[in-house]
Amino acid sequence: MKYPKTVRTYCPVCRKHTEHSVKQVKKKARGKAHPMSQSVKRFERKIKGYGSFPRPNPKGEGKPTKKLDLRFVCKECKKMHTKKGFRVKKFELSAKE
Ligand SMILES: [Zn+2]
Repeated sequence: MKYPKTVRTYCPVCRKHTEHSVKQVKKKARGKAHPMSQSVKRFERKIKGYGSFPRPNPKGEGKPTKKLDLRFVCKECKKMHTKKGFRVKKFELSAKE
């Protein structure tokens, strides 16, 4: 979907509707554990034996889309705040609308 770059929405700081510029923030990928760390060694020792896996296998593939992480910057007080994200496959910030 297309989403306008600027929207008029409620600012909790100014406590009124003001112009906001919209930014999309991408979530950071989770870092991997260091290959020689204690936890990794413990995990490998456990895996080497028969059968058991130290934690339950994740089932399924989760949801097909991620929730958007949108930031709204108020043009009056310059404060940044967020709203509830929503799920869409395609997201685009458009200048118009
Ligand atoms: Zn504001």
